[in-house]
Amino acid sequence: MQTTKLSNQSILPLTCSRAGTCCYGKVVNLNPWELLNLSREKKITPKEFRDLYCEFGGIRLRFDGKADTKGQQSCSQYVDNFGCSVHLGRPLACRLFPLGRQIQNNEAHYIYQGAKFPCLTDCAEVLELPKLSVGEYLKGQAADQFEKAQDEYLKVMQNIADIAFELLLDSGLAASGDRKTLKLWREMGKAEPEVLAQKIGKEWIDYLMIPPITEDSLNPILFAQKHNNFIAQKAQEKFGALKTNQEFHEGSVLLMGVSLHLARGLGADQKSIAEHWIATAKNFGAGE
Ligand code: SF4
Repeated sequence: MQTTKLSNQSILPLTCSRAGTCCYGKVVNLNPWELLNLSREKKITPKEFRDLYCEFGGIRLRFDGKADTKGQQSCSQYVDNFGCSVHLGRPLACRLFPLGRQIQNNEAHYIYQGAKFPCLTDCAEVLELPKLSVGEYLKGQAADQFEKAQDEYLKVMQNIADIAFELLLDSGLAASGDRKTLKLWREMGKAEPEVLAQKIGKEWIDYLMIPPITEDSLNPILFAQKHNNFIAQKAQEKFGALKTNQEFHEGSVLLMGVSLHLARGLGADQKSIAEHWIATAKNFGAGE
């Protein structure tokens, strides 16, 4: 689909006050810090929030509420005649909507889908509201900390994938003529979220989405860094003493799956990312 790119100075009708119109029939992905914020706002634990209101191990909010006139179900956090029940903890996707965010060459770009501003389809009256620049809108949405979380978790995603690379390339597995590992990386890039969540298994889904980190939980960068260290420690405990090629293969596949699942939670295109990493591994001698 066509996308329209914006600068921070682009002026748009971004002052909509009809909270909730856009809480139906959407896909809202979550990173672990966002899941934590939602649970805090709901005054329950991240595990409780994940189990009650999320799909695929916590990477996506459930949309299982009442349907609108188009038959689209509302977000699990939407309350009739009230709006968002977790407004202060709402994730980045909700803060940006109807904008999307892309990182290119380490720079954030804001976009919307299509040639026409999306809100005009359902809420043409937004044209009568005062207009804001993209920068002003993001400030009003307090998106800053949530953007930092997103960017830091992209690094965590890469770091987990790096361990999968090590288990394939530095262990001697690729040099042994292995042809199975990249095939499974590719399959996981294409897998539906429920399939990938099942492949990863409960233990690693929990490490990924509900890590036992209580300190620095208000600071997204410190939280994500602590989470990164926690996952690295678990990988060391689990895969640090492997001996056989079959074990290296299984470890590499598992961690690549964890990284790709996180990629999906970050709203990234996990299929393209998997293809990119397969090409990189081949450049370093892995085969398929
Ligand atoms: S979290 Fe809140 S703002 Fe976001 S879709 Fe759900 S109800 Fe709407």
